Amino acid sequence: MATMITDDCIACGACEGECPNDAISFADEIFAIDADLCSECVGLYETQQCADACPIECCVPDPDRTEREAELFERASGIHASRGVTLELGESTSHFRAA
Ligand code: SF4
Ligand code: SF4
Repeated sequence: MATMITDDCIACGACEGECPNDAISFADEIFAIDADLCSECVGLYETQQCADACPIECCVPDPDRTEREAELFERASGIHASRGVTLELGESTSHFRAA
């Protein structure tokens, strides 16, 4: 599932700079995640960085957008290839594989 921000967001901004895909932005009173840029941090971190940063735990899985590791990794790889970075899958770069 892509990650989403609920209406509980207090617009503190703590998550915005933590997203490796630049998927988070301010949108009409609260922050929002562009689902087409979110990879659930697959390819980069073993946990979702926005959820880790959020003080009120309002970065949560979007139940309407279930995605597999392979497609999330492909998305992240495409984003970061344009930045000259090659990603790898492993225990430390995918919550699907984290111990
Ligand atoms: S889960 Fe990761 S990629 Fe998705 S919005 Fe949060 S920090 Fe960005
Ligand atoms: S860290 Fe949480 S409360 Fe703060 S802007 Fe992000 S989603 Fe909203």
